[in-house]
Amino acid sequence: MGKQAAKLLAQERILILIRSAFQKIDDDYELANSQAQLAKKIAKRLRLKLPYDIRQLYCKKCKRFIVPGSNCRVRIGRSKIKALRITCLLCNNVYRKLL
Ligand SMILES: [Zn+2]
Repeated sequence: MGKQAAKLLAQERILILIRSAFQKIDDDYELANSQAQLAKKIAKRLRLKLPYDIRQLYCKKCKRFIVPGSNCRVRIGRSKIKALRITCLLCNNVYRKLL
C-alpha cells in the first residue's frame, strides 16, 4: 500500500474513532477517551495534522477527550479581546482560546 493510501485510510479511521467517541462519551467515558487517544496516536504515527475541530477536543493540560456539555464548559470571555474560556471539568484547567 502506498503512503498516500495509508494516510487516507488513517484519516478515515480517525474520523470513525472520533465519531464513536462522541457517541459514547456520556455512557462510557473511559472507552470514549481511549478511542480519542487512539485517533491521536494514529495521526501522530503517520504525521497527519488533525483538523482544527478535532484538536479542540483534547484538553490542553490533561490531554483527555473533552466535549462541551459533557465534561468541559465553554464561556465567552468578557474582556475586549474576543476569546472563549474553556474549563476542563476533568482537571479543572482553564484556558483561553482567541476567536
Ligand atoms: Zn484537562
